Amino acid sequence: MCKNKIISLFLCLVLTLGFGLDSNVNASVKSSLEKQIDLNNEKINDVKNDIQEIEQEIDIVDDELSKLKNEIDQRSSVIGEYVKNIEEHQKNIDDKNALIEGVLKEVEHTQQKIEELNRTLQENELELQKLEDLLAERIKGFYKYSQDNSMGLDILFAMVFDLNKDLQEVADTMYSVSKITESDKKLIEEVKQKRDEITRDKETLEKEIQNLDLYKKDLEKQIQEVESLKQELVTKKEELDGELQKVKDLEAEYQEKYNALDETARQKREELIQIQQDNEQLQRQLSEYMNSINNSGLVGGNNEVSPSGYLKPSTGSITSNYGWRIHPVRGTKSLHTGVDFGGAYGDTIVASRAGEVVHAGWYNNVYGNVVIINHGGGYQTFYAHMSKVAVSKGQTVNQGQRIGFIGSTGMSTGAHLHFEVRKDGQSLNPLNFLTR
Ligand SMILES: [Zn+2]
Repeated sequence: MCKNKIISLFLCLVLTLGFGLDSNVNASVKSSLEKQIDLNNEKINDVKNDIQEIEQEIDIVDDELSKLKNEIDQRSSVIGEYVKNIEEHQKNIDDKNALIEGVLKEVEHTQQKIEELNRTLQENELELQKLEDLLAERIKGFYKYSQDNSMGLDILFAMVFDLNKDLQEVADTMYSVSKITESDKKLIEEVKQKRDEITRDKETLEKEIQNLDLYKKDLEKQIQEVESLKQELVTKKEELDGELQKVKDLEAEYQEKYNALDETARQKREELIQIQQDNEQLQRQLSEYMNSINNSGLVGGNNEVSPSGYLKPSTGSITSNYGWRIHPVRGTKSLHTGVDFGGAYGDTIVASRAGEVVHAGWYNNVYGNVVIINHGGGYQTFYAHMSKVAVSKGQTVNQGQRIGFIGSTGMSTGAHLHFEVRKDGQSLNPLNFLTR
């Protein structure tokens, strides 16, 4: 930090050329360091507030994010059900299509059988034709033969009553012809029966094809129904997908917001650490500076460390001494357990000796805001009526380090510092510690 460097440089100069510089210079170095520390403390407060605000915002966004994540989970699971349902419908359709394929194969198979029957029927028809032709030929031959031999009733008569060799021959022929005709007729009858059988079989198969066709049409109708149900589900699912996408977009938006806030918070925390480190450095500089002044004995007057090792906690003059007095507020005689330093509201109060802060903040209605510093060996210093404390409990302070500001809190008639030195809890006259 530029300002710190300037102060450091200045500090260096003061330390090197220390002799001959008056206390005004020292006071100005001290006050500019203190001013910088003040500014930093303000910044620290601001940054802490910022971080708190950002963290609150992060909490809100985080809440929203987990709500959205829940909603996404719920919606996804509903969509999952739809997908399952659609898949089941599709499986139903696939099964039915497989059935149709089976039916088509069966129809094909049956048609092949019908074709075979048709071929057999054709062969049968041809055979029948042949047989009938043959029979017709035979009968024709027989009649021709009978006409050629002038066969009439008289011949038949002659065949019965006058059997000559010729007639016997005719009769034989007639007999054999009739025999053949009979067996032909029988054969024809068999073929005709066979034909009828085949025709019946064919009809049965054709009927089967018709049934298969009906079955196939029924399956197709069922598929159409399932397909339309499935389509409804698909449409509804697409609608739900769209809604889910909107929620997901919103989630992404919130996630982005979250990340940005998180990053800002991280930067702020870094900034805070930086300022805090900066302040520690300034505080060290101030302490070193105060120590060097005290050790070199440069400073006279108000800032001089007494031989017993104590520093005046305020630059103001003493307005009330330690001892018995009429209390300014109560009006009764009582022991004044410290000395009062006059001063303006907000004037700096410094640690009279190095030590550990054992109390910082409101003490009671008598002393108001108080800082108590433990110096070891049973010694404590006590600073009362502060308008504001500048240290916190547990903190180690150096001699001359600012610990608070003059005020009038508690039972007080105006801005002043009430300062005590205590040993083992008993107040002692501070002037015995502050002066030679
Ligand atoms: Zn007092």
